[in-house]
Amino acid sequence: MPCFGALEAGGTKMVCAVGNEDGKILERISLPTRTPENTMPEMLAFFQGKDLAGMGIGCFGPVDLDRSSPTYGSILSTPKLSWRNFPIVQRFEQALGVPVGFDTDVNAAALGESVWGCTQGMSTSIYITVGTGVGVGVIINGKPHHGMMHPEAGHLFMDRRPDDPLEQGVCPYHGNCLEGLASGPAIERRWGRKAQELSGCDAVWELESYYIAQAVCDYIMVLSPERIILGGGVMHQPQMLPLVRREVHRQLHGYLQGKGLDDLEHYIVPVSLGDNQGVMGAVKLAMDACAERGGR
Ligand code: ADP
Ligand code: ZN
Repeated sequence: MPCFGALEAGGTKMVCAVGNEDGKILERISLPTRTPENTMPEMLAFFQGKDLAGMGIGCFGPVDLDRSSPTYGSILSTPKLSWRNFPIVQRFEQALGVPVGFDTDVNAAALGESVWGCTQGMSTSIYITVGTGVGVGVIINGKPHHGMMHPEAGHLFMDRRPDDPLEQGVCPYHGNCLEGLASGPAIERRWGRKAQELSGCDAVWELESYYIAQAVCDYIMVLSPERIILGGGVMHQPQMLPLVRREVHRQLHGYLQGKGLDDLEHYIVPVSLGDNQGVMGAVKLAMDACAERGGR
């Protein structure tokens, strides 16, 4: 059975893996994200000599996914300055000599779940990660959605709750967007302590779920997903999912009913592939890139 390289490229770490057509991850390492000059050779040292049929990359961004663009496969305006405009796809293609599939980190995670995880067989689903940033991967008709470039639904504009002690959200571009008000760093700025140290403070999670639910309701209205997955560091708080479900029910206010909305426990769900949805999605991107190349 052929093997595929998979990279989940993040702002803090690069998860490099090898997987097969069943989505089984056979090998996996995590490297700190430094500069391309340092980190590219380390990643290539892992992938080279492994007889890979193809490679898939789920990447932090924004990224250029437009195949007709001269900068296709590059990272765009990231605050990680050394990676800005870095042609990551081209570099892997040149170094490995195999087809390389490419998408955003969150689209890759959404894809991994939709092929092997809890949204399997569904036509439309979304994966939301609430961590250092907030990102949303969107699957439509079973495929990662790009549109004009790719959704950036973590930057959805929010109604700030009037009693929020945080006057202004932490997003440098928009202030009070979802990422600005609900990311891990927003929680830390608001309450003066790291999110993981605030488990016992009910007010923290009640306000957090207010914002996440507001976004979830908007995604329901716009995309009508068949299921919504919530992941990322902040969702490690076990009280969060029930709070978000309760708040979504309250904010929808009975306007939409039926289908999944009558059973929010199975509609708004945690990740099902542990920490592997990103690299598994990247394996699928690699498989698709090979199939497109007329290979396997
Ligand atoms: P990243 O987004 O950098 O890929 P994570 O998804 O782990 O990584 O998100 C990191 C953020 O999640 C940090 O802001 C951290 O404070 C927060 N976080 C991590 N673990 C927890 C936890 N158990 N409870 C609440 N917040 C957490
Ligand atoms: Zn923003």
